[in-house]
Amino acid sequence: MPIQTQLTKMLGIRYPIVQGGMQWVGVPQMAAAVSEAGGLGIITALTQPSPDALREAIREARKLTSKPFGVNITLLPTLNPPDYEGYARAAVEEGIRIFETAGNNPGPFIKFFKSQGCIVIHKCTTVRHAKSAERMGVDVLSIDGFECAGHPGEDDIGGLVLMARAAKELKIPFIASGGIADGRGLAAAMTLGAAGVNMGTRFMCTVESPIHENIKRKIVASTERDTIHIFRSFRNTARVFKNKVAVEVVNIERKPGAKFEDVKDLVSGLRGKKVYETGDPDYGIWSAGITVGLIDDIPTCKDLLVRMEKEAEEIIGQVSSAVVKAKL
Ligand code: NAD
Repeated sequence: MPIQTQLTKMLGIRYPIVQGGMQWVGVPQMAAAVSEAGGLGIITALTQPSPDALREAIREARKLTSKPFGVNITLLPTLNPPDYEGYARAAVEEGIRIFETAGNNPGPFIKFFKSQGCIVIHKCTTVRHAKSAERMGVDVLSIDGFECAGHPGEDDIGGLVLMARAAKELKIPFIASGGIADGRGLAAAMTLGAAGVNMGTRFMCTVESPIHENIKRKIVASTERDTIHIFRSFRNTARVFKNKVAVEVVNIERKPGAKFEDVKDLVSGLRGKKVYETGDPDYGIWSAGITVGLIDDIPTCKDLLVRMEKEAEEIIGQVSSAVVKAKL
């Protein structure tokens, strides 16, 4: 029996699994592969150098899949201010009807997307921000636990408590993000009240992911102890792979009076992009969640989704029968 939820019905997808925005990874090939496999693929707007390039990326993805896919717009500090409005307009004009928003002050974007009849999935890391986005009219919340790759916020609440709090407080459906890479995670998220899951790191390590094979193998070889937080002192915390550059950044941050300018060149996204292109895991900063400790293969997106659903169903079945047996 397929796992059907409010999410699969709302988005018209087969599996309740979303591939969240990922800088340099959420390209048309990635998003189309996830959508074609039955999940929701998402193109990351800022990975494209301009709104016109985003238009081209959307057209490219359409050639690869006729299934729904979305666009991510993340509003966080950047080295060069992007034309967020231009990206948003371009995506709507290209017919995108599903958006993932994330980051600071998403209000105007949520309002714009809703005025255009779009579905908005807003990703956030606290229940208070989730409730505020709910009041703004978003359709789904993507609740990002402390386990996540990239920016976990500053409250440090792990997924187990965060999802349970979301289930108690929210009126609209939410999906669980951060720490999910397999059917066990999907089953756990649904048990906590989620209508599905969001995954990033797990999709980075698939056949169709555009990153260098060495980085996929590095993820497979890693444990849950192989990530680190940078930017804590600048209140823009980011979980990244624990490599030489990340450790150097943290050491600089620890010096009294450290400023963002002191690490700016080390952390540039363009430098991180080279990691994915060249396969050198130490070249720059690259995002990774602690799910690196759960990932031990490089499947196709389709095989991954089929396997996750099967595992989740088996686990839910085992839990139910254990409960029944305990009652007898
Ligand atoms: P970038 O080169 O502009 O910046 C590199 C890193 O430094 C980013 O993590 C950024 O948040 C941080 N940063 C920049 N200016 C800062 C400041 N003044 N204070 C503190 N931190 C600062 O980043 P990029 O790789 O070109 O990515 C563009 C944007 O997309 C960034 O905001 C990044 O955080 C965000 N992002 C989005 C996703 C996504 O899923 N859509 C994933 C990762 C990062």
